Amino acid sequence: MKIIKILCILFAGCCLVVGAFAQHAHGNGKLQLKLQGQSLIGEMEMPMEALLGFEHLPKNKAQSEAMSRLQNATKDATYFIELPADAKCQQKEAKAESSMFQGVASKGHSDLDYSFYFICLNPQALTKISFPFFKSHIKSHQLKVEWVGDKGQKSFTVRSSKPYFSP
Ligand SMILES: [Zn+2]
Repeated sequence: MKIIKILCILFAGCCLVVGAFAQHAHGNGKLQLKLQGQSLIGEMEMPMEALLGFEHLPKNKAQSEAMSRLQNATKDATYFIELPADAKCQQKEAKAESSMFQGVASKGHSDLDYSFYFICLNPQALTKISFPFFKSHIKSHQLKVEWVGDKGQKSFTVRSSKPYFSP
């Protein structure tokens, strides 16, 4: 009985450790997409490792340039998310935050926290949502999408091998 008890404690301990790291898993990001009327609001969290291949401050010219390119790309949310042309969506806001962009050395890990906001004149046409960034960021493997629409909430797993979903 005692051994079982110890095993249980060990197992629970492992789960806790796994749980703590589940927030930041290399290659894997998460996105919440909320459609309210004509407003499409997105909140994305992606490990910088998945986008740049490193999570420390740039150590050479190539890394500095890669980080600047990414920071520039975040101005246009369509770099990450592609919406059907028929939905007639226009970006109203995009905000990228990362300790790396601020030049703050992280304690091991760093994320990109990205929020964006579109107005879609024809939201019914949002039948397929694609993620073109997988092609150019090969260390990105998957994105867990939480979709919140008029008909409630749904979860999708988007992968580099199938970088889109249909709400
Ligand atoms: Zn990391």
